[in-house]
Amino acid sequence: MTGRPGGAGTDIGLISLDEAGARAAARVAPVPGVLELPLVEADGRVLAEAVVARVDLPPFANSAVDGYAVRFADLRPGAETRLPVLGRTAAGDPVGTLGRGAWRIFTGAPVPDGADTVVMQEDVTLSGDEVILPSQSRLGANLRRAGEDVARGQEVLPAGRRLRPRDLGLLAALGLERVRVRHRPRVALFSTGDELTEPGRPLKPAAIYDANRAMLRALLARAGADVVDLGILRDEPTDLERHLREAAGACDLIVTSGGVSVGDADHVKAALSACGSLDLWRVAIKPGKPIAIGEAAGTPFIGLPGNPVAVFVGFVFVAWPLLARLAGATAEAPVVFPAKAGFHHRKKAGRREFLRVTLERRDDGAVIARKHPGEGAASLASLAQSDGLVVLAEELEQLEEGSTVPFLPYAGLLG
Ligand code: AMP
Ligand code: MG
Repeated sequence: MTGRPGGAGTDIGLISLDEAGARAAARVAPVPGVLELPLVEADGRVLAEAVVARVDLPPFANSAVDGYAVRFADLRPGAETRLPVLGRTAAGDPVGTLGRGAWRIFTGAPVPDGADTVVMQEDVTLSGDEVILPSQSRLGANLRRAGEDVARGQEVLPAGRRLRPRDLGLLAALGLERVRVRHRPRVALFSTGDELTEPGRPLKPAAIYDANRAMLRALLARAGADVVDLGILRDEPTDLERHLREAAGACDLIVTSGGVSVGDADHVKAALSACGSLDLWRVAIKPGKPIAIGEAAGTPFIGLPGNPVAVFVGFVFVAWPLLARLAGATAEAPVVFPAKAGFHHRKKAGRREFLRVTLERRDDGAVIARKHPGEGAASLASLAQSDGLVVLAEELEQLEEGSTVPFLPYAGLLG
C-alpha cells in the first residue's frame, strides 16, 4: 500500500460497495491460535475445525410418538388387526424384544427388537389386554431410525462456522462438551472530532455527543470482536498518530470514524500515512463517503466516515466482511427479502443507494416498504426508527411506486 501524508493516498477511483468489502477482506488474514471452550461459552464463536459426528443421532431406534410398536408383517393388509400387548417401554428403559403382538411404547423409548412400525395411541382401540390396530399403517411409521438425523462419521458443521444456539444444541446432542474455536480479533476503536463529547457530560456550544462509538462498539461485538475502546481523539495529527501507533501494538485491527473526508480538519489520513500507509476508496454509494483502508505500524486499519448512517452502511458492507475474515469465519451474506415500494424515488445512476424504510404488512399479505422521512446521512433517528434498508441498484434512476425492491432487514445485518 502507498500513501502521501495529508493527501488522498492511492485514489483508485470509484468502486462498488461489494468490491470494497471484498478488497478490504482480502487485506487481512485470520488471527492465529485456537482455544477449547465449553459449549456454554461458545455462542457466537468461530469453529476452528470441522465437527465430525462420533456417534449416530439418534443413537438408537426410538419411537416418535406414544403408541404401540408392532412388526408390520403382523398387520392384516387393508383390515383392522387385533394383537395382544406383550410389554411396555418408556423413555430411558432398556430395549425389549417383541414376539407376535404389540408393545406399549412412549416417545423417545427404544423400539423393541423385532418391531419396525409404531402406531399412534390416538389411532388404536384398547380391548382388555389387546389392542385393535387400524387398517391403514405404513411400514416404518413413527419410528426414528438410529443415525437418521446424523450418521456417525458425518461432518455436521464446517470450519469457519459462527456458532449459533442451534449449533450448540446439535453439538450437545452429539455428546460434545467442549469445542475448538478461534481467538476473537482484538479491535481498537476510536472516534475522531473536536466537536465530540462523551454522553453523560455537559454539551458545550457547537459540540455533539459521540454516537458512532456506541453503535460501533455494539456492532463490533456482534461481529465477534473483542473491543478495545480508546475513546474520542481530537483532530490533531500528532496526537492521532501517537494513538494509532499505540493501538497498533495491542490489536489486530483499528477502526475509527470521522476525519477521513476532504475537510481541513480531516487528519486521520495524514496520521495514518505518517505511521503506515493509506488507500482512500471512493465507494459508489449513498449515503456514503470515502472509506480509508490501510495499515498503521503494520496493523490493518479501517477509517469509516463521520456521519452515523454512512458509518452503519460502511460497517455492514466493508468492515463486517473484513472482520469475518479476521475471525476466520465464513462471510455471511446479508439477508434480502422482496418488498413493495410504497413510494417513488429518483436517484443518480452509477451509485447504489440505501433507503431507510419501515415495513407495513397489508391485509392481502403484501409487505410494503415506507420510506422514512429522515433521509440525511446524519439522521440517527431514521436509522433507529426504521426496520431495514431498501437497496437501489447502480443503474436505476427512477423507482416507481409499487415496484418490487430488495429489502435488507437490520436483523440480518448484525442488528
Ligand atoms: P467528518 O467526516 O469527521 O467531517 O464528520 C462528518 C460528520 O459526522 C460531521 O457532521 C461530524 O460532526 C459527524 N460525526 C463525526 N463523528 C461522529 C460521531 N462519533 N458521532 C456522531 N457524529 C459524528
Ligand atoms: Mg471530523
